[in-house]
Order: sequence, then structure tokens, then C-alpha cells
Amino acid sequence: MTFEEYTELKKKIDYHMDRYYNEDAPEISDYEYDQLMQELKKAEKENPEWVTPDSPSQKIGGTAKREAGVKVTHNVPMLSIEDVFDPEEVRAWVNKVQEMHPGAQFSVEQKIDGLSMSLRYRRKADGNGMELTLAETRGDGLIGEDVTTNALVIPDVKRSLDIDADYLELRGEVYMTHEDFDKFNEIQIRDGKKEAANPRNLAAGTLRQLDSAVTKERGLRMFIFNIQDGPAELMAGHADGMKALSDAGVPTVFHKKCATADEVIEVIDQIGEMRSELPFDIDGAVVKIDQVAYRNDFPSGSKYTSGHIAYKYPPEERVITMDEILIDVGRTGKLTFTGLFHDSETGKPARLCGTNVSRATLHNQDYINEMKIGIGGKYKLFKSGEIIPKLNGCVEEPAEVFTAPDRCPVCGEVLEREEDTADIRCINPACPAQLSRTIAYFTSLNCMNIMGLGDQLVEALITEGYLNNYADIYKLKEHRDELISKGTIGKEKNTDKLLNNIENSKSNEPARLLTALGIRNVGQRTAKTIMQHFKSIDELMSASAEQLQEIPDVGATTANDIVHFFANEGNKKIIEEFREAGLTMENPETEEGGSALAGLTIVVTGTLPTLGRKEATELIEKNGGKCTGSVSKKTSYLVAGEAAGSKLTKAQSLGIPVITEEELLNMIKQ
Ligand SMILES: [Zn+2]
Repeated sequence: MTFEEYTELKKKIDYHMDRYYNEDAPEISDYEYDQLMQELKKAEKENPEWVTPDSPSQKIGGTAKREAGVKVTHNVPMLSIEDVFDPEEVRAWVNKVQEMHPGAQFSVEQKIDGLSMSLRYRRKADGNGMELTLAETRGDGLIGEDVTTNALVIPDVKRSLDIDADYLELRGEVYMTHEDFDKFNEIQIRDGKKEAANPRNLAAGTLRQLDSAVTKERGLRMFIFNIQDGPAELMAGHADGMKALSDAGVPTVFHKKCATADEVIEVIDQIGEMRSELPFDIDGAVVKIDQVAYRNDFPSGSKYTSGHIAYKYPPEERVITMDEILIDVGRTGKLTFTGLFHDSETGKPARLCGTNVSRATLHNQDYINEMKIGIGGKYKLFKSGEIIPKLNGCVEEPAEVFTAPDRCPVCGEVLEREEDTADIRCINPACPAQLSRTIAYFTSLNCMNIMGLGDQLVEALITEGYLNNYADIYKLKEHRDELISKGTIGKEKNTDKLLNNIENSKSNEPARLLTALGIRNVGQRTAKTIMQHFKSIDELMSASAEQLQEIPDVGATTANDIVHFFANEGNKKIIEEFREAGLTMENPETEEGGSALAGLTIVVTGTLPTLGRKEATELIEKNGGKCTGSVSKKTSYLVAGEAAGSKLTKAQSLGIPVITEEELLNMIKQ
């Protein structure tokens, strides 16, 4: 590339940069633009002597990437404004100011719900007007973040100002319109991505983007609400300063100058009425002393800006019409109710605090009755800040108040209404809606103790259709090759490990299986007690409630829960599947265990070929032995597996017999 060609290229890029950043009307695609920049950078790398500060590669806005986290100390701290919630408090404050400064006037302004940003301008080198040198976020009020690159793509932020001053610091609010916010969320929904919560959050995230092209695309706006620092003529009266900015083309926030408390309150009311019609969110009205010099006489606490207060409007409220009531069965079997509705006035989702609301939780039947909720009924809806939308009273009653069904909408089982809470539950452990929970319980340590079947894997196996009930766990091996090729569980090694753990669980004693079934009121201890009174699961299944109640610890409720569970056809089928899969349904013959190890103290160390540490301990204790954790002179045997460490060394040094798992099992058999 010749120097002439390089100069031409610079001009070309400058032109497109201007179309892109300032005119908002690019003529070439971002890709083509990037290509030109690449060409330029390549030429500059080869000919470093050509590079001057006016090269597009050296300019702000020319580089699309912003460096994150560059901290800037504010020249004037960006403090917050003290909130008041009662118009009378506003009046009292205005009166207090006017007692000291009878001539004090006020500016009442919209408080835009966005994020504050401050802009620093300096006189241009050629002396003609000013140029933006720094844009910074509020941060913690004392130190903010440099967001200059992104500020430059906001059309409301002027790159240069035709104002005759050396230095000017403006403060304003960056916000997003409802239209741009909705547009963003529509795209997110289309792409299956998470929606933004409200315009303020989205504006904040957008301003802090690393790629200013993203910031530009999403669309941010800014209103200036204060001159923080500047020439004396702009700093005397607030309204005059705003006028000068406005004349220079700077968008300023809606503001009105007021002389009395009555006027101030009138403008607050006016702004309140505008609120629902504005294309953006406001979260209050700011009242500030117009004469900037008076402000410091009214500091309202060290963390608040002096000479300002913010009036907060009561939460917005809309009237909605109920269209539909959805019933969901949660993971715990609890029924939840969600009301779907539309704004009675607009026919669209209700617009509250910058978000579209078309659904709200209806809690439980008591709440539904109390609120008289039903299809066609009209209700007040309010939302404050980030709080979940809430119904706030019935305006027009429906023809019929909604009543929860008697049967589970998912499995068809009769629902239970809990006595002390208003909750309604499906207590069928085989209910598909509760599958992931019941499976997690089934495999847990005190139940079937199947290691490696975690929550996420269970969810994946359910989603992929491998698990429709907990008996399906034992059918996973039929899909071994498919699971490995899909990588659902992992590679071959992990898949086989899990399948092996599942196989091993088949030999668990029936009390574990009974616990794992998740019958209400039948926990680990009760299951153990029950299985001491029955030879097998089959015997238990045919027991009557009366028979069950003869067992200590088993009351009428528990007995009924058990009978109810085994009477269910679906549950019977699952038990049959367990039997077919080869699970242990009968108690071992030697119910009380043997006494083969009576009087022996045994220590287990290392990894045994088949028994887990807990299983080995149980086995030893069941056969009358005592299991301890450390080797001493009193130790009778050390059962050592693979990778046995210091315990083995110690046993050897003490001359204690070391045996294998096989030898231990043989001792029990005798
Ligand atoms: Zn159910």
C-alpha cells in the first residue's frame, strides 16, 4: 500500500465511522467496516511512521471494544437523592428552604428510572466549542467506570458542544424506552434466551457492554438533569443552565420552575399523571433548589445530594381481567395456581413499572377464595420495583370462584388437602410430575444408595425418556450402548460404573426398598421396624391396616398410607417390575444375623473388591462383630483392600492378622 492509498483509506474509514457513530445511518455492513479497519491496521503495522493521532485506529469509537473495569474517580461525587413518600414532606422541605432563602425557587423534574452517567467536556484544541473527553457511570458514587466508548454510540450524547467554556461536567440518566426494551425481549424469546427483567436493568447491562456495537444496536437514550461543574453563568440558576444546554441541542429532562410549595406539588401531580403515558419509566419526581448556590445550605445527610429531594409515587396499579387459571404439580407434589390475565382497559398485558405483566401466582385455595378469583373476574394488580406482581383486591366478581380439582391433573390420583396449611398435594410417589424428586429420593444414601445418579443426570434421563418411574432405573442397562454413544452419563467407564452401582443395589435388604418407595410417613426407621414383622414385601402388600397397626410405631395414618399405596394399580405394577428386575423382595433367612464374628473387633481399610465401607461395617455388625476405625492391640482382624495405607503397616507391625474380603465372607458363611 502506498502512502496515498493509506490516506484514502483513512478518509474512507472516517466517513463510515461518522455514518455509523454520529449519523446513525451506516452505508456498509459491520463486516465490511471491520475489513477496512483490518487493512488499515495492517498498513500501520508495516509502516509505523505513518500513524498519527488522527488515524481511525487511534480514535475513541474507532475501536469497537471497550476495556472493562477502568475506574474513574468522580470530580464531583455522584450521591443519591433522599426519597420522600408524602406530598406534605415535600411541602415541609420547600418551606424550610424558603425560611432561610425567601427568594428560593425550585425545579420539579421527572426522575427517570435508568442509571446515572456523568459526561466531561473540555474546550477543543482549536478553541471552537467543546468535546466529550470522558463518560463515567455512577459506580459507588465516588468512583465510577469509564464507559466513554459506549456513551459515544448513544445518539443523545453529544460528541461536541457549541458552548464557550473550558470545562463542563453534565450529569444525566441513561435509559431505555419501552419500545426498545420490548424489542430486545421479543428477540430473546425467539432465540430461547432469558428475558430482561426491566428496562433499567437492561439499560445498565447495555451501557456496560464490552462491544459498543451491541450497545448501539439495543438503543440507549439519555436525558441531562444537572450541570455539576462549569462556567459561572451556567451554574447560577438551574433552569437557565438547562435552557442553555437545550439550546445547544442537548436533550434535558422534563422540568418546570416553581416559586411556591403549591406549585411544586401541582407539578408533582402533573408528572404523576403523565407517568403511564410516557414511552419510558420514571420512578418519581425530583425537587431541587433552582439557585445552585443555596443548595449547600440544605445537605440532607452525607450520602445524599444537597438541595434535592425525590418524591416517590405510590406503586402503579392496573385493573386486570382473569382469563385462565393454570394448575401445576410441583416437584414436591404441591399444586400451584397461576392466573393468566390481560389489562381490562388496554386488552394487552398490564404495563407496570416498566414490565409487561400477564401472569401472577394465586398461592392456594384459601387465597383464591378470599380474593374471589375466577375466570372473567376483575382485580387490581400492583407491582413495586422488582417485587413480584400481586393482586390487590377484587373489583368485579366472577360468575364462579375457581375451585381446585379433586384429582391430580398429571396422574389422576385423588389429591390431599393438608390440614394445617391450605396446600393441596398429590401424594402419589409415582406421579410423573414429581419424578425427579422421587428418583433422587429413591437413589439416596438411606434408600437404595445408588452412587453417581445426581440431580442433573436424573433430569437428563427423564428428558430423554429413559426414566418414566423409578423402576426404570433398573432398565437403564438395556440402553447401555445408546447411552454411551450419546454420552448422557459419560463415556464407557462412567456409564458402566453407574450401571454397576444400580445392579449392586438390587441386593439391598427389603427395608431399604420400602424406604425408597417414598410412602408418606414411612421413613427409614419405620421401614426397618415394619420389615422386622414381615418376611417379604409381598407379605407386607397383603397386610391390612389393622395388622399394620399392631406394629409398634405404626399408627392409623401410617397404616392407611401403606395400604393406600399398595392398593394403587400403578404402584403394584412398579413392584412387579422390581421383582422382574431381580430386586431382593424377601428378608434374608438369617434374619437376626449370625454370631460368626461375635467377640471380634475388626477394622476395614482400603478399597474392597465388592463391598462398600458402609456395607462391610453393616455386615460385620450384623454377624456380631465390632467394627472400629483404628488399628490397636485389641484389633482381631484387619480386612485390607486395594490401596491400604498406614493401617496395614500398623497391623503388620502389631502382628494382627490381615485378611481379604473373601476371607471375611468365608468367616461369616461358616
Ligand atoms: Zn399426581
